[in-house]
Amino acid sequence: MEWIPTRAAGLERLAQFLPHAGRAYAERRNIDFGPQDRSNVSALSPWLRRRLVTEEEVVAAVLARHGFTAAEKFIQEVAWRTYWKGWLELRPAMLEQFDADRIALKAQLEADRHLQRRFARAAEGATGIACFDAWVEELRGHGWLHNHARMWFASVWIFTLRLPWQLGADFFYKHLLDADPASNTLSWRWVAGLHTQGKHYLARAENIARNSGGRFAPYGQLDEAALPLSEDVPPLPVTPLALAPRHDGGPCALLLTEEDLHPESWDLMGEIKAIAVLPGATVAVPDSPAARFSAGALADAAARASAHFGVDCAKVTANEIPAWLAQQGQTTLVTAQVPVGLIAWQLRTVEARLAADGARLVALRRAWDDLLWPLATAGFFKLKTRLPGVIARLGLDPAAPRLL
Ligand SMILES: Cc1cc2nc3c(=O)[nH]c(=O)nc-3n(C[C@H](O)[C@H](O)[C@H](O)COP(=O)(O)OP(=O)(O)OC[C@H]3O[C@@H](n4cnc5c(N)ncnc54)[C@H](O)[C@@H]3O)c2cc1C
Repeated sequence: MEWIPTRAAGLERLAQFLPHAGRAYAERRNIDFGPQDRSNVSALSPWLRRRLVTEEEVVAAVLARHGFTAAEKFIQEVAWRTYWKGWLELRPAMLEQFDADRIALKAQLEADRHLQRRFARAAEGATGIACFDAWVEELRGHGWLHNHARMWFASVWIFTLRLPWQLGADFFYKHLLDADPASNTLSWRWVAGLHTQGKHYLARAENIARNSGGRFAPYGQLDEAALPLSEDVPPLPVTPLALAPRHDGGPCALLLTEEDLHPESWDLMGEIKAIAVLPGATVAVPDSPAARFSAGALADAAARASAHFGVDCAKVTANEIPAWLAQQGQTTLVTAQVPVGLIAWQLRTVEARLAADGARLVALRRAWDDLLWPLATAGFFKLKTRLPGVIARLGLDPAAPRLL
């Protein structure tokens, strides 16, 4: 599997996977055959993460090929991504808490030699648990793991190696091509038993042996009786989503961020006078596959946007945005909604500075997010049951009547 950081390569992978996205996916998706064989899953996550290819495009293509019944499992998996994004968007304080914990644990690592050694053994893939050590090598070398391997990895990290889940999530975040604050942080919490309190995911040797294509059999090496983690904090309140602003026409500048690199499908009205790209949604290890994918994806989007809108694309830091916008003689900066995470935190300050200059940031929300994020108030079930209605409303299923 080669992850090339362009929209064209993402669409090519989608076309290649499409025949397998129906019943075959539902039957075989849980098997991790290893890095040489990714034919049973889409491996689209690095492209979807940045919306080089969008959820709507993927769902529409799969529906056109297989119809809803056969493609339901695959579509539900895509919707898990949306569920985690929505869940975090409704409870942004969760990521701030995670970040504070992560920083405190990093400081503890410096001071606590014993913890440092145990962490280093895990992060270097030197635990002696062959499957775990192989996943570390795969993660470092390819920047990607199969979903089941991610679940096993997180479970072994938390319950067998007894390391803090936040350090594991941080380790993943720095190496994954698809590193996403919502999917990553909340999946680690789910494995730990903190998302659905008291329900954790325990990796079992028998399950690993059965689903790893005969590669691993860690009998006797895992703690298969560990209890879920718990935390002594009340559930976070749900903050309703603010109404998404619209771009009501008029000249504007565009800001591309790694949260949405398909500006060609943004709901734009006015004339585009200037474009800038803002790097840095992730904190990938320098020169890692993840860092290279991230840089390549931004370059691809900048080139596409330039060609599509007929305007040069500049590279700016968050700090430079207000001055750059003023230089372009513009007062409206349009971007796609930036979900909770590093860029959203940076843009808070930028937005205040723009307002002080009499300019404004308009963050457009895609219809997919607008309809589905508010359903992430509790468990996945609510969103899952409403999916067919949302798909019909968006006109993604050629076989379903379009609802207005
Ligand atoms: C501990 C842990 C950490 C994770 N961290 C991330 C992360 O940082 N970024 C990320 O995109 N996914 C993350 N996932 C979810 C999932 O493992 C990957 O999205 C999936 O493995 C990607 O492979 P694929 O593209 O072949 O998925 P497919 O099975 O082909 O599914 C299609 C798409 O649906 C989405 N998807 C599928 N399963 C999930 C899921 N369980 N949660 C969220 N989205 C899903 C992905 O966008 C994926 O590309 C994590 C899971 C775990 C258990």
